[in-house]
Amino acid sequence: MQKIQMKTPLVEMDGDEMTRILWAMIKEYLIEPFVELKSEYYDLGLPNREKTSDQVTVDSANATKKYGVAVKCATITPNAQRVEEYNLSKMWKSPNATIRAILDGTVFRAPIIVDGINPYIPTWKKPITIARHAYGDIYKAVEMQVPAGKAELVFTDKDGNERRETIHEFKAPGILQGMHNTDESIESFARSCFNFALDSKQDLWFSAKDTISKQYDHRFKDIFAEIYENEYKAKFEEAGITYFYTLIDDAVARVIRSEGGFVWACKNYDGDVMSDMLATAFGSLAMMTSVLVAPDGTCEFEAAHGTVTRHYYRHLKGEVTTTNPIATIFAWTGALNKRGQLDNIPELCDFAARLEKATLDTVNEGTMPGDLALLYKGSAEVKATPCAEFMKLIAAKL
Ligand code: NAP
Ligand code: MG
Repeated sequence: MQKIQMKTPLVEMDGDEMTRILWAMIKEYLIEPFVELKSEYYDLGLPNREKTSDQVTVDSANATKKYGVAVKCATITPNAQRVEEYNLSKMWKSPNATIRAILDGTVFRAPIIVDGINPYIPTWKKPITIARHAYGDIYKAVEMQVPAGKAELVFTDKDGNERRETIHEFKAPGILQGMHNTDESIESFARSCFNFALDSKQDLWFSAKDTISKQYDHRFKDIFAEIYENEYKAKFEEAGITYFYTLIDDAVARVIRSEGGFVWACKNYDGDVMSDMLATAFGSLAMMTSVLVAPDGTCEFEAAHGTVTRHYYRHLKGEVTTTNPIATIFAWTGALNKRGQLDNIPELCDFAARLEKATLDTVNEGTMPGDLALLYKGSAEVKATPCAEFMKLIAAKL
């Protein structure tokens, strides 16, 4: 069989632990026998981040900006315990945060739906994609615990003029938080969401709490509305999709009653919380894909889950695990399909679609990773299948 040829390299970001093992298997069994893989490889595994003082992460993000498409393996975000385990010179930042800061992107997470794995919400028939604004709010807040006294919000403009607002007169100890966002970041977020909705031909919902937060959340609502009117309204009408703003609590109620099939744009904290709820409600965190989309269309694809540490320790002890590679396979298909679209290689897009179908067909026949076997309610007889065996069965269908 002739292998599919690529034109532009795909930026490949390798990672850690169990997902690093899956990564090598996916390439060996599912990609390299079929595609003459052209990739620019960056090893974001923690030992190499330590060795390069994390320069490799910055380099991989810059390469993504240059070429336009990346695929990323899950990586460890070090904490104190990891600093000891890996003998690190520093608690390196989360690679995802570094990459996001350089690409200025929005993260879209969508579940992979399989027959037999039923969402907890019976009305959900189609995926719900969640878009999380990944800048500011409480994630960049400053906080204080204070004794009795007066708390004020003070802003000094560049000419030295001050604006003050009393937050609270504390009669007894309490707590304070100051947070911010920027018009520029909200505008990028809005454009990424409108573009993603157009690309995927799905309605876009945006929710905030503008009735309570009349300056802060209202600014989000206004920026979305302005950009929609000026830049996207005509395109949305032509595509037959709609943009719709509603309060966050109303959105939650509507999401539960919906049948899915739309993009839900959320502020940073709402997106953090709601994405975990949606992942669980659709069945499994291991079936969530994640793509970072920059305002200029640059994309980085990955699985939403982490490095599956507990399985890795079992793997190191020589046990055979049935870890779920599906979201990581779909990160590869997402990236190959996007590369095929940009470089006009229909065979590559077709291969990505066939690999997705072969993966889901294999599950439908009853051979599946262990976590899905526990959830499966379909008619096939179920077998929890080790990773390599599962991938060989998929490859046999290609
Ligand atoms: P995790 O790796 O997502 O795993 C949490 C648990 O979820 C696992 O122990 C496993 O449950 C289940 N699970 C997740 N993915 C699975 C899969 N593909 N197949 C089967 N089961 C799966 O999260 P974590 O344990 O909190 O974090 C581990 C490391 O990943 C951390 O160092 C963290 O920094 C990193 N992380 C990276 C990313 C990223 O790169 N995007 C995201 C999140 C976390 P059972 O053990 O019960 O089987
Ligand atoms: Mg979270």
